[in-house]
Amino acid sequence: MAKSIYFFGGGSAEGNASMKNLLGGKGANLAEMAGLGLPVPAGFTITTEVCTYFSENNDTYPEGLEADAEASIKRIEEVMGSTFGDTENPLLLSVRSGARESMPGMMDTVLNLGLNDETVKGLIAKTENPRFAYDSYRRFVQMYGDVVLGVKAEKGEHDPFEVIMDEIKEKKGVTLDTELDAEDLKTLVTRFKALIKDQIGVDFPEDPRDQLWGAIGAVFKSWNNERAIIYRRLNNIPAEWGTAVNVMAMVYGNLGEDCGTGVAFTRDPATGENVLYGEFLMNAQGEDVVAGIRTPLPVAQLEERDAKSYNDLQTIRATLEKHYREMQDVEFTIQQGKLFMLQTRTGKRTGLAMVKIAVDMVEEGLITKEEALSRIKPADKLSEVLAPIFDANELKKAKQEGHILAKGLNAGPGAATGRIAFDADAAAELEAELAAKWRAEKKKDKNAKKENVILVRLETSPEDIKGMQAAVGILTARGGRSSHAALVARQMGKVCVAGCGALQIDYKAQTLTVGDTVLKAGDWISLDGTEGEVFDGKIETQPSEVEQVLLKGSLDAEKAPTYQAFAKLLSWADEYRKLGVWTNADQPDQAKNAISFGAEGIGLCRTEHMFFGEGKIEKFRQMILAKTVEERKEALEALLPLQREDFEGLFKEMEGRPVTIRTLDPPLHEFLPHDEEEINELAAFIGTTPEYIKRRNEELAESNPMLGHRGCRLGTTYPEITEMQVRAIFEAAVNVKKETGVDPHPEVMIPLVGHINELDGQEVIARRVAEEVFAEKGEKVDYLVGTMIELPRAALTADRIAEKAEFFSFGTNDLTQTTFGLSRDDAVKFLGEYYEKDILPQDPFATIDRDGVGQLMQIAVDKGRQTRSDIQLGICGEHGGEPNSVEFCHMLGLNYVSCSPFRVPIARLAAAQAALKEK
Ligand code: PEP
Ligand code: MG
Repeated sequence: MAKSIYFFGGGSAEGNASMKNLLGGKGANLAEMAGLGLPVPAGFTITTEVCTYFSENNDTYPEGLEADAEASIKRIEEVMGSTFGDTENPLLLSVRSGARESMPGMMDTVLNLGLNDETVKGLIAKTENPRFAYDSYRRFVQMYGDVVLGVKAEKGEHDPFEVIMDEIKEKKGVTLDTELDAEDLKTLVTRFKALIKDQIGVDFPEDPRDQLWGAIGAVFKSWNNERAIIYRRLNNIPAEWGTAVNVMAMVYGNLGEDCGTGVAFTRDPATGENVLYGEFLMNAQGEDVVAGIRTPLPVAQLEERDAKSYNDLQTIRATLEKHYREMQDVEFTIQQGKLFMLQTRTGKRTGLAMVKIAVDMVEEGLITKEEALSRIKPADKLSEVLAPIFDANELKKAKQEGHILAKGLNAGPGAATGRIAFDADAAAELEAELAAKWRAEKKKDKNAKKENVILVRLETSPEDIKGMQAAVGILTARGGRSSHAALVARQMGKVCVAGCGALQIDYKAQTLTVGDTVLKAGDWISLDGTEGEVFDGKIETQPSEVEQVLLKGSLDAEKAPTYQAFAKLLSWADEYRKLGVWTNADQPDQAKNAISFGAEGIGLCRTEHMFFGEGKIEKFRQMILAKTVEERKEALEALLPLQREDFEGLFKEMEGRPVTIRTLDPPLHEFLPHDEEEINELAAFIGTTPEYIKRRNEELAESNPMLGHRGCRLGTTYPEITEMQVRAIFEAAVNVKKETGVDPHPEVMIPLVGHINELDGQEVIARRVAEEVFAEKGEKVDYLVGTMIELPRAALTADRIAEKAEFFSFGTNDLTQTTFGLSRDDAVKFLGEYYEKDILPQDPFATIDRDGVGQLMQIAVDKGRQTRSDIQLGICGEHGGEPNSVEFCHMLGLNYVSCSPFRVPIARLAAAQAALKEK
């Protein structure tokens, strides 16, 4: 086995920041800081490889590890000037997990290790502080009992250690832990040990070396505890990575008033502002800062309390940013006026902050544009910048009417409104219910809005992840800006108000009380995560700053700093990307939004969406119900002006950019009415009987409509539909050209082609009608005729298809469906289990399956180019706005990706990242 232990401390280190895979993030960065000469307590890291060995070899260690650890302990002893297990001057250790990527709170930690009935005396002698020594000792026994020995609360009961503690406090007539004296704490140690013996049946290990190996083993094992596994799944962290274990000399922030501890970010993680941001507590241990029992102070106030440490921290902040060229999240402890750095890592931040920091750092000369672009996660972080805020009028009204309930910490920006759930399961259930309700409503009202869930907790812990995931916003009564709720919410991009002390939450009664207001589970509540305000009732949310500037024009760009950073970043993206970014839009307002977001064309206009408007659907239904070709043509005649008008709107909006219009795609029966009332209305409209309509409904129904009479199969059997649509396209194009002088660029796209002969027939119609219109109107426009590649047969015979198609657009929704033989509509029901069982790595309808679907795309690209070297290639399936798929499209050398308007910025950035990655 390779080297398993890496030492750091005393101004040097065996490892460094580039060794994250082996040493974990924490270990690698501790080594890096030690190597930079920063004040890090000495310690060593046991590698992630040992974690893998340990779990593969029945919890045993590779040969020689123990001897290496012994030697490293010696070196810690030399640097720190104390001895592990010594009864006069004991060295105490912390044992912490640290995976390649941070997994906050998911794995175990043991502190104050090395204390026993003898060494505690040494600690007393050394610190002259018996209370401190026994408090450290009881914390250690408690933590070790929980983490290593597995003492647990019975179901529904309180933590048994806390129960004992409460008993002692009650007996003494005090309420706070801090009111317990050394003797009380000593009693606690004895009682805790007795509890362990009672529940687990083993004696608490007194030998520091037994303690150490017990703790190391527990931390390695915690890599496979349930919450770590769930977290890994949510964050795509492979199980093979394993965790490292960091063993480090303890330093104390709770030895007196000249001690303290804190957490800080080198810039504001919510807004990105370039200031030291964080909080600290004097005379406290690290966990006190995040536990929310005492309210920490803003780090700026450290200057008054301990100017030297504050200045040291500011200097270290600058050193770290210059060295890492990235915003850092640090933990520090001040022991008797001396500052120690316990951790540094890349700081998690909101999308707003991510964009702002990246752009600022380029302007400060810290990083290059390329680095700034590569750093932003397009899907989660950039989309956060586009996240909603409250409707300003509604907010004003809510404030005037006194709906403001309380103020907490603005821990995760954005606005959220939703229904209350008090625990993770309830949140997940409510979310599923609301989603189902919305799906049903959407069938009746296309604009129906989905209701959301707000998770309300005293504080959150890793067990709450599922509920946080289901909620749009998180509200907690306790905890600071760096509490679990705040950190995780920011990472997930959720709105969060934390530490809202005015809330009284009663889990049993399922109520939230503030003064006279009592809210129950399911009631409406609204959160302003940017201001930290909580409102009772529903406040409509509104588009982001970016949207207000770009789409609404309701906000001046000068007054929108987020927008400015966003715009700058995307302009840089455009310098690097090779892929064009088009949009899927059927309506002029969608097209307009997309252009504001930077779209360069329409890659898919689904014409069937245009028939749903008032006054159109009846005519369309009449067309479907026609008994003869003549009747159908007559009905189509009535539809022609409506379609033409729609297309004119699009061409005007697109001002000469390409507009890809797809001929009718879905099976006809989808358009027919099914409920009694609608059937009667339609019968009256076209002068037939309801019975006739019902019979046609039955005739048109298919057992497998997705594979049925749809796509070009409709245009093949009813060529008059294609004729009408193509006529509408070209008449509209010519009209707009005459009216505005701008040259529209239509691209006629034939869907669901599997055989060249299908395309052939449709292409002949398209070109004939185009020429007819040009002749009639005495004006012409440039246009293309092409096809979608949505069926495996189309991909495999793309060389033939390219004889007629001037462009291909990959319809990866259908191509995924038909390649896997998975129904787009029904597969969600069981695909979840496929990911859990690792049968599929992810949803193939979201991210292109490169091996299968991707291979077909590659074949189609190659064969298409073989026949027509300059064939235009794009994608318009949902994958066109998903970063991983965008990268694949870049690799295939497509000309463009097309996605929904709000994903256009994401695709622009993802395309730039793909180009940079290739470089
Ligand atoms: C596709 O199949 O990928 C596509 C864009 O078409 P639709 O989703 O309309 O079937
Ligand atoms: Mg399709």
